[in-house]
Amino acid sequence: MSRIYNFSAGPSTLPLEVLEEAQAQLVDYQGIGMSLMEVSHRGKAYKAVHEEALANLRDLLELSSDHEILFLQGGATGQFAMVPLNLLRPGQVADYTNSGSWAKKAIAAAQKVGDVNVAADCAGDRPTRVPDADELNLTEGAAYLHITTNETISGAQWQALPECETPLVADMSSDILSRPMDYGRCALFYAGAQKNLGPAGVTLVGIRRDLAEESGAHLPGILRYKPHVDDDSMHNTPPCFAIYMLMLVTRWLKQEGLENIFERNRNKAQRLYDAIDASEFYRGTAAENCRSNMNVTFRLANEDLEGVFAEQAEAEGLSGLKGHRSVGGLRASIYNAFPEAGVAALVSFMQEFERKNG
Ligand code: PMP
Repeated sequence: MSRIYNFSAGPSTLPLEVLEEAQAQLVDYQGIGMSLMEVSHRGKAYKAVHEEALANLRDLLELSSDHEILFLQGGATGQFAMVPLNLLRPGQVADYTNSGSWAKKAIAAAQKVGDVNVAADCAGDRPTRVPDADELNLTEGAAYLHITTNETISGAQWQALPECETPLVADMSSDILSRPMDYGRCALFYAGAQKNLGPAGVTLVGIRRDLAEESGAHLPGILRYKPHVDDDSMHNTPPCFAIYMLMLVTRWLKQEGLENIFERNRNKAQRLYDAIDASEFYRGTAAENCRSNMNVTFRLANEDLEGVFAEQAEAEGLSGLKGHRSVGGLRASIYNAFPEAGVAALVSFMQEFERKNG
């Protein structure tokens, strides 16, 4: 078997133990004579998976019974629409921070639904960054404040949730459960699973129960949070296999311990930033106080060499380092399951590449 180092921004690396467990159970799940993809979502086998996935998440996120956890579909992009459809009422304003490409998409969707105040706009700033909590221009009585905790493309990350009275809504697609934090402080948070939690196909939503209860009565059930809460995320057929994989990943996360995962994530990112800062040949693209532990973005002083860098890295088993097509440059996505040895291999490759081309 030869697994490469996969620096892809998502879908991305999964823990090898998880893949092997799924493989071992694939054709005949726990002796039932069928795969988990072939069983009813209301049957005993799947139900146990669903319940363990929810329990693992509640435990890892340290959520009280004030919050519901939902498994939805439609990705974080679906949440860009569902959040304002449910939470932004006529006559109200929603505050959004514009920190980059993903925040922009969330804002564009909300503007189709209602009034949006851009409470801070640093999407055009270079080096890339997220706003400081004290530069937010908040609206009194706003329905909510939306932030993007980690801008996957620019590599800028909120180091902590902002303190505010306004209910906080967070797109955590690319850093959920990469660190312990007070997830319960968000009125609503959401994330596609395909970076830190499993394969694509399931979207995690954490929502305060009272918000789900009150909101969206005018909406068809599928677009409203409440029916998903009432039906335990079985309002329609859930993406059973993706949830099974998420259950295995969250089981793995619990075994590793979230504090340890965070420590590892910080060390992995620091090693890369140290390598970038060690030479004039490389340049980080995010402001130092916002550097992401998940997506390390950088450029070469000679940008013409970036294509060759990505190509030669690929040939050495370091895959997916090309930056997002909208910004170019290079990006190493190093989510929870990305191994430390892969970071060491990239650092060696960077040093060698500089020696040959510097
Ligand atoms: N928000 C962020 C921060 C993301 O990184 C992504 C996907 N890369 C999205 C939203 C969109 O997610 P999806 O493709 O699951 O809709």
